[in-house]
Amino acid sequence: MSTRQGTGTAGAHHVVILGAGYAGMAAAIQLAARTKRRGDVQVTLVNAQERFTERMRLHMAATGQQLAELSIPELLEGTGARFVRGWVTAVDPDTKTVRVDDDRVLSYDTLVYGLGGVADTSAVPGADEHAHTLSGAQDAELLAERLARLGSGTVVVAGGGLTGIESAAEIAERHPELNVVLLGRQEPGATMNRKARSYVHDALRRLGVEVRAGVEVVKVLPDAVESADGESIAADVVLWTSGTRTSPLAAAAGLTVDERGRVVTDAALRSVSHPDVYAIGDAAAIRQGYGVMHGTCQGGMPTGVHAALSIGRVLRGRQPRPFRFGYYHTPVSLGWQDAVVQFTRPDDSPRRFCLTGRTAVRYKETVTASPWPTYGRMKKMPASGAFWPRGGRFTRLRGTK
Ligand SMILES: Cc1cc2nc3c(=O)[nH]c(=O)nc-3n(C[C@H](O)[C@H](O)[C@H](O)COP(=O)(O)OP(=O)(O)OC[C@H]3O[C@@H](n4cnc5c(N)ncnc54)[C@H](O)[C@@H]3O)c2cc1C
Repeated sequence: MSTRQGTGTAGAHHVVILGAGYAGMAAAIQLAARTKRRGDVQVTLVNAQERFTERMRLHMAATGQQLAELSIPELLEGTGARFVRGWVTAVDPDTKTVRVDDDRVLSYDTLVYGLGGVADTSAVPGADEHAHTLSGAQDAELLAERLARLGSGTVVVAGGGLTGIESAAEIAERHPELNVVLLGRQEPGATMNRKARSYVHDALRRLGVEVRAGVEVVKVLPDAVESADGESIAADVVLWTSGTRTSPLAAAAGLTVDERGRVVTDAALRSVSHPDVYAIGDAAAIRQGYGVMHGTCQGGMPTGVHAALSIGRVLRGRQPRPFRFGYYHTPVSLGWQDAVVQFTRPDDSPRRFCLTGRTAVRYKETVTASPWPTYGRMKKMPASGAFWPRGGRFTRLRGTK
């Protein structure tokens, strides 16, 4: 039997935010802090766990490092926002309801969709059954336990992107008894400038990671991976970091989605098919002048803040403004004591300048640790969260100012 729940104050405009990741937290705090005094807006944040998952640290958790206990309900205290812990199982834009854990139904006037993304293990046969992922804290803990029990053997990290590089480096440093092989279509750091790329290569070599570029994994078996050219590469453990996919809920709800299931938005971050639904973070396909944004925390938090600002404007009878965001850096850890930070143009292409070594480690740690204190500051001073690079001519869409 299902129970229909109001979302709080009778007569208030109900904003339900799905997903308390980097983007959803930013949206919830920003909106609640800005509307607290009005009393006619009720914000409800729904998330699978009460503990905030620092996704940017999951490669560290995968080698047994303890992450901080960050409580979402505690952070929301004093904002007036309500927290609902549960698994969202359906969204119905016709009745404007959301189903949680199959037995609770929440009504909304405005929905913010921020369910993030997970590793795409559907891309090749066997990945779902045999490979580990870093899609959530539990996955990281499972991998940590497996690596701790292994003693010796080979860990194959499939996917030479940033998560693959960070994971391979961390595992090799924490488990020198294991062989770590990093497989990817492209060489690691392919999007960086020559200096940063060769720094990544040298660091991986120093840590003993065997890097194999130009390898397309087409199958994962219980004890190996198979490449497109028929080679079998032995693996006691496979970590799958190649590609991401998003929750099927948006497509099932009839929202317009792209080929990866991300909600296609207009310039103000509203769903192009359902304007009372905003989409943010990794779950959204947001077009900028340089193309569709790719999933990062640096871009995700601004999308959450912008959605909150837009909702506020619409409630005051004004037009929402177009969202604009330009990238500025790519920080990559290379184990605990090394890192590289590639500074970028707004379209994410590499600039000439990069940081390496201990300066880069300090920079990366500052960036990784910053979201939680930022939310704390936004509670008191919402305007403090509204600064990010707009990207100038790189992000301007034709027809927008
Ligand atoms: C190892 C690693 C390192 C990274 N390093 C960086 C970095 O250095 N810099 C950077 O900018 N980005 C980095 N990223 C990417 C960054 O973490 C993501 O882009 C970011 O987490 C996206 O934020 P989000 O809020 O959209 O989604 P998420 O942070 O994934 O949050 C989504 C939330 O929704 C919840 N959820 C999902 N489905 C449901 C459901 N059906 N019901 C209820 N709750 C649900 C999830 O549990 C989660 O809490 C890294 C990612 C990884 C994996």
